[in-house]
Amino acid sequence: MVEQQIRARGITNPRVLDAMREIPRHLFVPPPYTLSAYTDSPLPIGNGQTISQPYIVALMTALLETRSEDRVLEIGTGCGYQAAILARLVCHVTTIERIHAVADLAWKNIASLGLKNVSIIVGDGTEGYIQNAPYNGIIITAATPQIPPPLIDQLDEGGILVAPVGGRDIQELITLKKHHGRTDQLSHGGVRFVPLIGEHGWTDT
Ligand code: SAH
Repeated sequence: MVEQQIRARGITNPRVLDAMREIPRHLFVPPPYTLSAYTDSPLPIGNGQTISQPYIVALMTALLETRSEDRVLEIGTGCGYQAAILARLVCHVTTIERIHAVADLAWKNIASLGLKNVSIIVGDGTEGYIQNAPYNGIIITAATPQIPPPLIDQLDEGGILVAPVGGRDIQELITLKKHHGRTDQLSHGGVRFVPLIGEHGWTDT
């Protein structure tokens, strides 16, 4: 998976590639999909949600430019795969999931790997999580019509936010960098994510 789907497509950051090698994706997909765990596609995890495509996980992780001392916030825990990769790369991961049953699944997966530096919060991630702010990096793993303003406030000076921004069905992957209170945005191409439902995201219809 790492050689053919990730390195071959231009992601060369050795820390990211090592983290992707160390976290076994098959432990995060439900049993009917175990044999497909290393194909380059999203897969269903129940409750209408998905585990993200490995290449996109690697790309978004690389765009965050993580350092081992960083504190990172993820919005949209899902089964916990992206959070587990981040846990190998940074000091602490706070991750927020709105569906209780999905957060429970993530908790089991993260605990089974013995990862101790992840806090899973159940709630509306569009509000962020002020208790652990500011964050050096923020990653939104669900489609949002705009970057939720509380997340920009909770991003530290010099921090990077990565998010799929656009319509409910198709979005552009963007990075936002914050310096001296100013923000700069860059686009990294088209992506497809399930919707971010919440106060500063989409309504649940
Ligand atoms: N990061 C996951 C993929 C997540 S899919 C991985 O590693 O595979 C998107 C997740 O975002 C879903 O589980 C969905 O329930 C959750 N979500 C949607 N809106 C949310 C919100 N406002 N706050 C927190 N989680 C949200």
